[in-house]
Amino acid sequence: MDTAADPHVVQVRRLHKKTSKEDLQAFAAPFGAVARINIFYGWGQGIVEMENAGAAAALLAAYADAPPRVRGKEVVLSSGVAARADQIFKQSPANPAYVQKEVARCVSDMLKVVEVKEIRRAANELRAKHNALIREYTRELEASGRQRNDVCWEWITTGLCPQEQNGEACPYAHQLVPVCDLPARYRWWLRKDTFPAQREVGPYKKAM
Ligand SMILES: [Zn+2]
Repeated sequence: MDTAADPHVVQVRRLHKKTSKEDLQAFAAPFGAVARINIFYGWGQGIVEMENAGAAAALLAAYADAPPRVRGKEVVLSSGVAARADQIFKQSPANPAYVQKEVARCVSDMLKVVEVKEIRRAANELRAKHNALIREYTRELEASGRQRNDVCWEWITTGLCPQEQNGEACPYAHQLVPVCDLPARYRWWLRKDTFPAQREVGPYKKAM
C-alpha cells in the first residue's frame, strides 16, 4: 500500500454480501459522525470515513477484543485509507452507470419479493384445500363409526410386533383392516415403505 493509514478511516472486511451503506452507517454512527462510506461489493470490504480521528479510534477500540457483527455476520476491523476519487465516483449518483445498476438491482429485488409472495400464497391455498379435504374425510369416517385408531402399525407394515418380540403384551390390535376404515392421515403409510430395514428406521416408525 502506497498510502499510510488515515486515522479517520476504518476498514471493514469480510462483510455480508447484502450489507448496505445504511448498515455500516448504523454500525458506525454511535461512535461519531460518519463522513463517507464506500462498499466494495465482490471483495466484501468497506471503508468507513469518520468526521474525526477520535471517533475512528473509539470504533476500533470498542471491538479490539471481540469482532463486531454487521448484518448478522462477524466482520474484521482495521485502520485503513480513504477511498480514492475514482472509487467514490463509482458509487456516486452522478455516475450514470451506478444509477443504472442500482435501479436494476432494486427492481429485481422487488420482483423477487412479489414472486416469492405469489408462490407462498399459491402453496397456502393448495394446503388449505388439502387440509379441508382431509378434515371432511375424517369427519365422514367419524360419523360412520368405522374409524380404527387401535391397530398395531408395526404388525401391519412389517409383520412383526416389537412389543411381542420383547415378550410384552401389545395394547394394539393385530388385525388387518380396510384402508378406508383408517384415519386419512395414516393411509399413506400403507402405500410404500420408503425406509426399508437396510436403510434406517423411518421417523414415523420411531414415533410409534
Ligand atoms: Zn403389536
